[in-house]
Amino acid sequence: MNDITCDMCRDLMPLVKDGIASADSRLAVERHLEGCPSCRARFETPLPADGEKAFAALWNRLRLLAALVMMLCIFVGMDLTGGQGLFYNSLLMPFIGALGFLVFRWKAAYNIPLLLLAVGLVTCGLNLLRGLEVLDIPSLLWWTVIYSGFAAAGMVIAALLCFALKKED
Ligand SMILES: [Zn+2]
Repeated sequence: MNDITCDMCRDLMPLVKDGIASADSRLAVERHLEGCPSCRARFETPLPADGEKAFAALWNRLRLLAALVMMLCIFVGMDLTGGQGLFYNSLLMPFIGALGFLVFRWKAAYNIPLLLLAVGLVTCGLNLLRGLEVLDIPSLLWWTVIYSGFAAAGMVIAALLCFALKKED
């Protein structure tokens, strides 16, 4: 028979796991677990270790940084378009693709072209306001396609690197 409710059992679980529960509490939890599969499943799920939590936090921060650098690079790249941009962008776009893979994973395949196009339109608009010569829309679309190709190459390289690093673990 169950002496405690599921809620009480779940409140006591961390204490039991840490070995600081009183003998009575531990007994009550153990008895409850015998008769309650859902609490038992929860009890048997390991808590994430501190190292894993720290890694997840670090990874989130890294992704944010990658997103910021990626957006900056996209602005620079789209602003270079039309000038001597192609040379620089053939290096910059794969880098953007690799960062995009870190941030979006495979969704980068469509997020990056969309971002390139959106930022391209914004930079064109800004240059228009500054009275500079701007690309016409068909050229902008054409460049977006070319850049997306370069970015896709960077994405694939990043994906292969991730795969190789995971294998080493
Ligand atoms: Zn229960």
